[in-house]
Amino acid sequence: MQTNLADFIKDTPQGREAEAILRKCVHCGFCTATCPTYQLLGDELDSPRGRIYLMKQVLEGAPATAKTQLHLDRCLTCRSCETTCPSGVQYGRLLDIGRSIVDEQVGRGPAASTMRKALRAVIPHASRFAPLLKLGQLARPLLFGALKRKMPATARATPWPASSHSRKMLVLEGCAQPSLSPNTNAATARVLDRLGITLIRAAQAGCCGAVSYHLNAQDEGLDYMRRNIDAWWPHIEAGAEAVVMTASGCGAMVAEYGHLLAHDAAYADKAARVSALMKDISQVIAAEKDKVRALLHSSLITHRSSLITRSSRPPA
Ligand code: SF4
Ligand code: SF4
Repeated sequence: MQTNLADFIKDTPQGREAEAILRKCVHCGFCTATCPTYQLLGDELDSPRGRIYLMKQVLEGAPATAKTQLHLDRCLTCRSCETTCPSGVQYGRLLDIGRSIVDEQVGRGPAASTMRKALRAVIPHASRFAPLLKLGQLARPLLFGALKRKMPATARATPWPASSHSRKMLVLEGCAQPSLSPNTNAATARVLDRLGITLIRAAQAGCCGAVSYHLNAQDEGLDYMRRNIDAWWPHIEAGAEAVVMTASGCGAMVAEYGHLLAHDAAYADKAARVSALMKDISQVIAAEKDKVRALLHSSLITHRSSLITRSSRPPA
């Protein structure tokens, strides 16, 4: 795609990055096939290609409008479109740049600003999110309609294995997940324990930074990233093999740490190392497939033997 970026942005690091991304896009529209908002709304401006076009216009000097902001806001930042783009367009990076410029130009009303501040003040902080969620869950029987449907039922945590193996991996605890789905990481720890891997929770780590970063508070998001790196680093130096993700959105963010902190001399190398160590749990399991097969095989044999024993007992 040909570009002609406006003076206000073209010689900035953001402008150069946006231009390089825009130039890769060939308008083919393959990405629309995997975009949930386009599938749901059927509007080209709610597709990745349409949003890229809107951002290009703004970066080339056309004034952003509330409509531009609305179509960018509707993007879920799921980055599903990147998986089907044959040209390797880094849509997620472009969106971060586009959103910050559109927000600067269009601004936000008091209600939207308060809502966004409230989200940033609560969600990334497990100690604030957990009691508020609990309160909502206690009030669930009194709620009705959509509010009741959106309030998740209470989930109880299952045990975390106590064993210690020489192979170790870190897990991102995250911010909302421990309250909403406390079993996810515990179940992951039990599966990895069976594979001879200890899963470590680093006490000081928390939100991956995506909530703030995608709500256009980039500096705040970068601080969460630095805090996680500081919490993980002693374990990485001690030999942790991977930083395991059980929430794909967080994984996508951690994969970007190296890129986003590349200009921070104190963290650039560590961030790149953390991104290289980031593994989705499905990747970890796939890499251990021989052990998984052997475990499944032995538990099938045990199960079959117990069935045979039971069926060969004389009736009481
Ligand atoms: S990030 Fe997700 S919602 Fe946004 S354009 Fe890409 S596929 Fe669509
Ligand atoms: S698939 Fe990639 S190259 Fe094609 S329109 Fe979408 S972003 Fe552009």
